[in-house]
Amino acid sequence: MSTVLSDIPVVDAGAVSALRPPALWVAPEYTGSLEALEQKERELGERLAGIAARFFRARFASSLAAEDMVLTDAILRGSPAVRAGIRVFTLQTGRLHAETVAVLDKVQSHYGYSIEQYTPDAEAVENYLKKHGLNGFYDSIDLRKECCGIRKVEPLNRALSHADAWLTGQRREQAVTRAELPFEEQDEARGIPKFNPLADWTEPEVWAYLKRHNVPVNDLHAKGYPSIGCEPCTRAVRAGEDVRAGRWWWESKDSKECGLHEQNIKH
Ligand code: SF4
Repeated sequence: MSTVLSDIPVVDAGAVSALRPPALWVAPEYTGSLEALEQKERELGERLAGIAARFFRARFASSLAAEDMVLTDAILRGSPAVRAGIRVFTLQTGRLHAETVAVLDKVQSHYGYSIEQYTPDAEAVENYLKKHGLNGFYDSIDLRKECCGIRKVEPLNRALSHADAWLTGQRREQAVTRAELPFEEQDEARGIPKFNPLADWTEPEVWAYLKRHNVPVNDLHAKGYPSIGCEPCTRAVRAGEDVRAGRWWWESKDSKECGLHEQNIKH
């Protein structure tokens, strides 16, 4: 017997769309003028040149994510004084995605520059694992901060122990904890100035810069990750969600800093 149209079950379009995975974040389009972007880039170059002229041992802590690749590019394609005066390093926490680690090789082949890696103290990691297990950081904010302390803050302190200034790729728009971020602030804990040269940049400006200069980026950005940290503590975000919604997503957005930028949290 042949099948007729009335035999075919009707599928509810609403039910199908409910099954469809949600649209993920994609890099935003820049709709401003080229002149405005060029002006922003000039200002960035001047900011970096000013830092390199004032300090001898400035260091840039790169997470290897989008904003930090803008700064990496501006430093490594900057004047010899900027390239020599601001050294780029990253915190190799031991829990990074393979895609993030691959950025180190991309930078090496694109710029001929080896980003210095700081790793956590092996004994401290072992003690944490013995006491709290591999993923103990999901159990409480205190245990999450303890893990960040071991894998990020202590290596950062070591990396900055001889620095006379440091830089980050933070932007004001990224989070409520960063809304008042200045270009220059004093890192009271370390007794040195801290610079946020992209504080006033927007997300579309960041992506316009990366595309315009063909900067190598983390492959995770194309999989819905606007902000990237350690693998177990970062996930892709939906279109329209806060760009840092995928970082420590199980915590309140008022507490989402890893200790590297503790000044951002108002106590
Ligand atoms: S982000 Fe997660 S895995 Fe990475 S150091 Fe912090 S708690 Fe540990």
